[in-house]
Amino acid sequence: MSMRRIFDNIESEKDAQRLVYLIHLYTEKGEQGEVTWLKDQALKALIYIGTVEQLFRTFDYAPLFVTWSDQTRFVNVSMEAEAILEKLIEAKIIERLRLSTEHYRYIFAYRVTDRAYVREIPMEIKREVENVYKCPVHSILYEVHFTEHIEPQLICPKCEREKEIIHNKMTKIRARNILDAEQINFISELILLSKFLREKIEV
Ligand SMILES: [Zn+2]
Repeated sequence: MSMRRIFDNIESEKDAQRLVYLIHLYTEKGEQGEVTWLKDQALKALIYIGTVEQLFRTFDYAPLFVTWSDQTRFVNVSMEAEAILEKLIEAKIIERLRLSTEHYRYIFAYRVTDRAYVREIPMEIKREVENVYKCPVHSILYEVHFTEHIEPQLICPKCEREKEIIHNKMTKIRARNILDAEQINFISELILLSKFLREKIEV
């Protein structure tokens, strides 16, 4: 049986499989197999963590001005992930629901519709995804929680420990760092500015 392919590029295809499996893990709940929807805000936080941990090989993130709960703010969003999501919706592998909030804004939610696609995802891809989103001690999925400041947190429901990634052997990254975008944006602007100045000076 050959797997349905959506992308010409094999790396993008694998990232699409990782993304579908991630959505599957967070929507396929309950013993009766009832399906829930994964809200965009939680998905963005999960993708951010997966990108920092280099689970998604073709993803990067950049600050984007988006709707975040009842606010509009800078969030570290992966444009590659957004593009793959669009393609997966077109291919009817995942489904997107538009919900209106009490503040008359719209939010999206996702779930997997093509279960055959999920079944055919290679075991090693599934394991890679589970290694990122499951507590290593309890082997259960981290839950996505939001603080009163709408900061996301990935927390193990059993030991209540928050997922942390040690980045470049020194910086601790947690899901809430998805909101550090303004700062990152500011720093990158400073770097650009200093580069610009140096070039000016060299001339
Ligand atoms: Zn745990």
